[in-house]
Amino acid sequence: MSGIDDSLKQQICSYLNFSEGILPVRYLGVPLISKRLSCLDCSALLSRISEKFQNWQKRKVLSYAGRLQLIKSVILGIHIFWTNNYILPSKVLRKIDSLCSEFLWNRKIPLVSWNSVCQNKKQGDLGVFSARIWNQATAIKIMWLIHLKKDHLWVKWIHGNYLSHANVWQVQVKINDSWMWKQIIKMSDMLIGMLGSTENLTNLIDSCCVNGKIVVSAVYEKLNHSSQQVAWSATVWDSLHYPKHSFILWLVAHSRLLTQERLCRMNIINTNRCVLCSNQLETCQHLFFDCQYSASVWNKVMDWLKFNCRSCDWEHIIDWYSCRLRRNNFTEKLKRMALSVSVY
Ligand SMILES: [Zn+2]
Repeated sequence: MSGIDDSLKQQICSYLNFSEGILPVRYLGVPLISKRLSCLDCSALLSRISEKFQNWQKRKVLSYAGRLQLIKSVILGIHIFWTNNYILPSKVLRKIDSLCSEFLWNRKIPLVSWNSVCQNKKQGDLGVFSARIWNQATAIKIMWLIHLKKDHLWVKWIHGNYLSHANVWQVQVKINDSWMWKQIIKMSDMLIGMLGSTENLTNLIDSCCVNGKIVVSAVYEKLNHSSQQVAWSATVWDSLHYPKHSFILWLVAHSRLLTQERLCRMNIINTNRCVLCSNQLETCQHLFFDCQYSASVWNKVMDWLKFNCRSCDWEHIIDWYSCRLRRNNFTEKLKRMALSVSVY
């Protein structure tokens, strides 16, 4: 009803028996908005995530692995629904990541940085989706649909209004363009800058297309790719492990287990004495498996499995596992499991 006077507006409303609404309205849970998407417009998303966390927190004591599972299965679904539809303000994306991090580490000091947590398992980490990078991946999908001139009404509208023969990768925004369009172009410029050239960006997209359709999770993996891979990934994340055992083994592999040595360094406690043997300092190195007590447990487990590996230092054990025990047969999986259980 834009551009008409009030009396005509009222006539139309009474004729149709509708009342006039104002934007934003919520549609399928997300706001329909014609102007700038503010942090306030995203408050429904943030409070939905916080509520979930608070409810889980109240219900029972959760292990790290349990927390991780909830973040990956439930929270991801909520934020992906929003990030698939909008380029969210970076403040909101940072808030989602920080809510997830707080929940994972139970509001205590994070033992491993969130960037590491979001690296995939081959790189030795947890493979949680970062809200910020997921939003970049979905923005790429939007640009790609525009670039291919897909047969969607909104794509046609964009070509008619903003592009008129120009290319989505090179177009300059104009002052009167809509806020969302400016966000798309800003994101496109940022990604081209990050990847070095438009060609690199389109090559990346090409490599993520299956049967003519772009796979957002593949784009995400490419954007989140780091060449750094760790040899112990298969040892830590074997499918036979109990998830909570894997998580603790992962902390040990990163030397981030909260041993008394680390607690002393953080000024949380002031004495350090191994709880298993009471006569050495409690460090990761000592626990796995210099300590008399833990070494005897480890050796017994190895005897039971008729496996030659014996008590020795951690570096040696993890090297042995990473280099020699890489196959996927049941015996080797069981040997990996023996390590994760013993460490836990
Ligand atoms: Zn000890």
